[in-house]
Amino acid sequence: MRLRLTNSNNAAFLLRASFALYVGAAAASAPACWGGDETAPPPAAQDAASDQDIAERLTRAYPGIVKGVDSGGVIFADGTRLPLHDGKGDRSFAAWLSDPDIADMFALAYPPGHMSAPPRNFDPGRARNAAFFKKVYGDCAAGGVTPALVDVIWLPKKAGQVLKVTSVNGVAKRLAAISAELDELPADFDGFLWPAAGTYNCRDIAGTKTPSAHGYGIAIDIAVQHASYWRWSGAKGDAAPAYRNEVPMEIVRVFEEHGFIWGGKWSHFDTMHFEYRPELLTPVGGLQPGADAAGSAASGAPAQ
Ligand SMILES: [Zn+2]
Repeated sequence: MRLRLTNSNNAAFLLRASFALYVGAAAASAPACWGGDETAPPPAAQDAASDQDIAERLTRAYPGIVKGVDSGGVIFADGTRLPLHDGKGDRSFAAWLSDPDIADMFALAYPPGHMSAPPRNFDPGRARNAAFFKKVYGDCAAGGVTPALVDVIWLPKKAGQVLKVTSVNGVAKRLAAISAELDELPADFDGFLWPAAGTYNCRDIAGTKTPSAHGYGIAIDIAVQHASYWRWSGAKGDAAPAYRNEVPMEIVRVFEEHGFIWGGKWSHFDTMHFEYRPELLTPVGGLQPGADAAGSAASGAPAQ
């Protein structure tokens, strides 16, 4: 299925976002900062990743889990496949968001680093193909996620809070690394960092029948007292209200460097929400996505 973009501002934004992603991938030392940079040259025109690009991203981000992509779809290590394209054609944003195919997850390039308020219906990473995530992490409603959950100590120095996240694909190790970095931030940041509001939770997204990323054990909510959520901010129907955010970019940058996207990059903003989506980010510095993932599911607990 393809996302039908009817707003020309969105198309222009996508070009800038794609360019930012390109710059972010190329510059290993610093995230791209593109907010307000109207003079940036356009990238090669594209409003969605190619099938080859998707194949490379998936095999890199889910090592030992996704083997590749061919004409039959996404190939998993156990030999099963899921379709890359569902052939449903153009649909409205709402229909697209509620039932995206795997290729749709790449339709909006996630822009790492600084950004200004996202334009209408720019929600990179918010579309999740449920079959793909259930295949990778399990179906929480069927008890398929809890066997892989392990403890991560959130901010051992500041808070020592025990969180449950999945060990599949190295997620717990990633979050432990994020926790260790955030633990070193000055006390000014404490109110944004803890207590964390939740990680694993087998539920649908509020107001939808779409499984939440929290049900796969790959998401964390922080800074509830500073959170801005589009549904809490006077939304009418599915139209997002004016963008708001209080979460400092210093925190966002640490998450992004370890492959976690931020809900504050969405026009339907959820600024307390982060989730592990290494297929959408090329981490700058630090870990490569999935580099130590092969043994993580078997080894259980993260480093700490
Ligand atoms: Zn969340």
